[in-house]
Amino acid sequence: MKLRFPGGLKNALTFSYDDGVEQDIELIRLMNERGLKGTFNLNSGLWAAPGFTWPAGQIHRRLSLEAAQALYPASGHEIAAHCLTHASLPELDDAGILRETLQDRLNLEAQFGTLVQGMAYPYGTYDGRTAQLLGSCGIRYCRTVSSTHSFDLPQNWLTLHPTCHHDDPALFDLIDTFLTPHPMGNARLFYIWGHAYEFEANHNFDRFEQLGDRLAGREDIWYATNIDICTYADAFRRLVFSADHARVYNPSARAVWLEENGRTVCAGPGETVRLDA
Ligand SMILES: [Zn+2]
Repeated sequence: MKLRFPGGLKNALTFSYDDGVEQDIELIRLMNERGLKGTFNLNSGLWAAPGFTWPAGQIHRRLSLEAAQALYPASGHEIAAHCLTHASLPELDDAGILRETLQDRLNLEAQFGTLVQGMAYPYGTYDGRTAQLLGSCGIRYCRTVSSTHSFDLPQNWLTLHPTCHHDDPALFDLIDTFLTPHPMGNARLFYIWGHAYEFEANHNFDRFEQLGDRLAGREDIWYATNIDICTYADAFRRLVFSADHARVYNPSARAVWLEENGRTVCAGPGETVRLDA
């Protein structure tokens, strides 16, 4: 019994970009031109002051709250947390971790009028305490910076390892592998992360155009935000099977697809369907 994404698809693609910088404007334009979906991890305590002018040559330029409010909610992408002050969580005591996480979530939800359930670890740093504390703050997944070069769905969503950074030398080989059909295989998630300011620093926004052109517009890929995929995987986990595995009940409020013995089955919200029909 294998997870299939919405529509019975085997593949999902998502992006994750950090820090809420000016270059997110161009990145979102390139993503939306291609129908790509992703998540922007924001620090609600570090917005630039309104009208602030960054020194010439400064590449890491945070948006003001006003500019961020004009950009992210209408973009179609997910807004996620990245800590109140971009703190390295393992250096804090438990209360500090809770404050950095929960206050960021409270601020972002008020500032953007949305639910914030996702997060990326500042500097990619985490330790044995963080996952449990983040879970207590209502965070459902948190991205690290450890590339796996794999397309496996995460074992632990609170240490969600990406496939690769957009500047990874293996990126285009990974795209070739991802686009090669694998008829009987497990569902695959291609997860690309980075900072949009890196495209300016490395003069390579064209790299995103190239990777986007390769991956966009395909009927065999689900283009989704991080939380879309996390929520879907959760609904899949909650499927209830009869003891003889002949029927499956979907208690969630969304349709869930699975593949059994080469046959793809969709269980609608609240529906019980036969697997042996
Ligand atoms: Zn960051």
